[in-house]
Amino acid sequence: MRVLAVSDVIVEALYSPAIREIARDVEFVVSCGDLPSAYLEYIVSMIDKPLYYVMGNHGTRGGVTAVPEGCIDLDGHVINHNGLLLAGLEGSIRYNDSPYYQYTEGQMRRKVFGLERKLWVNRLRYGRYLDVLVTHAPPFGIHDASDLPHRGFKSFLGFIDHYHPKYLLHGHTHLYDNRAVRESVRGQTHIVNTYGYKFLDLEIDG
Ligand SMILES: [Zn+2]
Repeated sequence: MRVLAVSDVIVEALYSPAIREIARDVEFVVSCGDLPSAYLEYIVSMIDKPLYYVMGNHGTRGGVTAVPEGCIDLDGHVINHNGLLLAGLEGSIRYNDSPYYQYTEGQMRRKVFGLERKLWVNRLRYGRYLDVLVTHAPPFGIHDASDLPHRGFKSFLGFIDHYHPKYLLHGHTHLYDNRAVRESVRGQTHIVNTYGYKFLDLEIDG
């Protein structure tokens, strides 16, 4: 299942009518956060396919949240898109007193816990918990950085080890260099930094 993932920076070619051709054979678009609502609204209006998103830590405008209209919020939700099981966890680690989209490790653990019942329903119904976890922040120690705002969540490592999603797609870590690592593997999980854009051919088990 071909998917277009975007995050963190606007890609001019996607913010133009060329998006129709570029995204012609994708099943849906997924945003891993920190993108202007207008950009996501433009994409979804041009291609007539669903756009799933989580908000990044920069998801506000003038101090209020700025969610993209016509797009589907994945945070705290578990959905089935034509057999592909997706869930989302928004935001970054808490590093200042902004009221939105920042979570302590304990708060993120509770958000993960909030997904548990739905993941078990998947397990009973489909024989697996989840195919794709969509986040803004990376897991701790994987594609993250040592400064607090860019530190990943330990809760995501626990999530990977417990629920074994086939993919974890995230943003938040900017890539300034083509040689930077943007894909890693932990256990059975492929972890992909979707900074800018990334086409993914996602496999479905089961
Ligand atoms: Zn961010």
